[in-house]
Amino acid sequence: MIESDKRILVIEDNDLNLKLFKDLLESEGFKVFCTDDGFKALDIINSIIPDLILLDIQLHGISGFDLIKKIKSTHSISNIPVIAVTAFAMRDDEQKVLSSGFEAYITKPISIDSFLCNIRKYLGVKNDVY
Ligand code: MN
Repeated sequence: MIESDKRILVIEDNDLNLKLFKDLLESEGFKVFCTDDGFKALDIINSIIPDLILLDIQLHGISGFDLIKKIKSTHSISNIPVIAVTAFAMRDDEQKVLSSGFEAYITKPISIDSFLCNIRKYLGVKNDVY
């Protein structure tokens, strides 16, 4: 495993997905922070300033669309890339996701290879070193 100084925040309210993402990302050497609470997410983002955010679109009580609006309108964190993770699989949703400020769109259930490939891409980590 190659240690990385890249920090990733995973915002996901499904325990199994959260654990899967955390395990996968940690196995790649990334530092992973997790929360299942969309309402606390802004404070967490502001305090840890991650290099990348994975955001579940369907959170309890708040939508990922509302959350990214807040992220992108907060100057100190607006430049952090945010990848949407969602069970939606329809083309209209993909357009809505991309026009909302997300860098990319990952559909659950994930394909592990393309999941990690996307993560490395948006972290600026070269795939060929792995
Ligand atoms: Mn969810």
